[in-house]
Amino acid sequence: MDRRPTVAVLGGGQLGRMLGLAGIPLGLSFRFLDPSPLAPAAAVGELVVGDLDDEAALAAVAQGADVVTYEWEGVPAESARFLAATLPVHPGDRPLEVSQDRLREKETFEALGIDTPSFRAVGSRDSLDAAVSALGLPAVLKTRRGGYDGKGQAVLRTPADVDRAWVTLGGVPLILEAFVAFDRELSVVAVRGLDGTVACWPVVENEHRDGILHLTRAPAPTADPRRARDLEQRAREIATMLLGELDHVGVLAIELFDVGGSLLANELAPRVHNSGHWTIEGAVTSQFENHLRAVLGLPLGLTDARGVSAMINCIGSMPARAEVLAVPGAHLHDYAKEPRAGRKLGHVTVVAETDAELDERVAQLSAVLDPARST
Ligand code: AMP
Repeated sequence: MDRRPTVAVLGGGQLGRMLGLAGIPLGLSFRFLDPSPLAPAAAVGELVVGDLDDEAALAAVAQGADVVTYEWEGVPAESARFLAATLPVHPGDRPLEVSQDRLREKETFEALGIDTPSFRAVGSRDSLDAAVSALGLPAVLKTRRGGYDGKGQAVLRTPADVDRAWVTLGGVPLILEAFVAFDRELSVVAVRGLDGTVACWPVVENEHRDGILHLTRAPAPTADPRRARDLEQRAREIATMLLGELDHVGVLAIELFDVGGSLLANELAPRVHNSGHWTIEGAVTSQFENHLRAVLGLPLGLTDARGVSAMINCIGSMPARAEVLAVPGAHLHDYAKEPRAGRKLGHVTVVAETDAELDERVAQLSAVLDPARST
């Protein structure tokens, strides 16, 4: 029998935990690097506690590993380069560099002919005024680095908003984007193998609350089958171009705005993604398993959906286990994290045969997860 490969993962959050849960049946072992001794991935592998830019900690997590990967896009690109001197690191440092800077991300979209909201780099109050004149209001001002889940950004609707946003966000490099009145938010999760093979899961529809992903529907519902096919095809083209341009091996997620059937790329995540969690039960092969297959040079699994699914995040508190499991088709994922307001603690995926059945199950789940809103 083959030797059991060890995968070193930079970051030990819930994404690392779900990578471990997918890899253990394949005979893989895991070692994670995380600054917290309470990292959720500790349940599925060895945990090295240390900073992601600490060379001794990086060397410790990678020692004897077959491949290094990451589950957080905030990993310093320098850390990926440091480890790449001795081991394969997939994806590499370039997807980190591009996704950590909203300006480089948007320039990459533009260079590939991928539509994206109009944007301007902002480095001073004068350049902010010039960008507002060029793009008009409303617009969205974002920090180039470090923003996530809607943090580090402000919607500007009036000149007074411009003044206020400059006070709160100014001082670091920024980007101004035209405000897009989108019909809905979508994402595509794709995977590229070591040999360049690309596979995409169906495009999904995402609903956010307070800047945090609340619900994903997979596949994205569409009344018009021809439009759905065109959308899938364009999303696949966008993903394939980006995966190739970044020479990316592993899973990549792209968040998209749907504007009248046209897709605008908003941002990318060079890792397994919250909008792909439904694939654990809702697809033939999950994003976690295919990420591992890709980085180890194994054949990729089929990405077709099995029926229709919805994934709902548990934010701030976990629901009663028995009540979730009483909903037909529901699967609970508890990340074993300390509850804190606004924190992703787990998720529930519900699968069904038909859209009507899914709607009914989502309504049942919403009553359990969010009783105040659904009454
Ligand atoms: P982001 O951190 O870029 O994913 O932005 C968080 C959320 O803000 C997105 O999911 C959208 O709902 C909204 N948003 C971001 N950029 C824009 C934009 N240019 N126009 C309209 N809404 C936006």
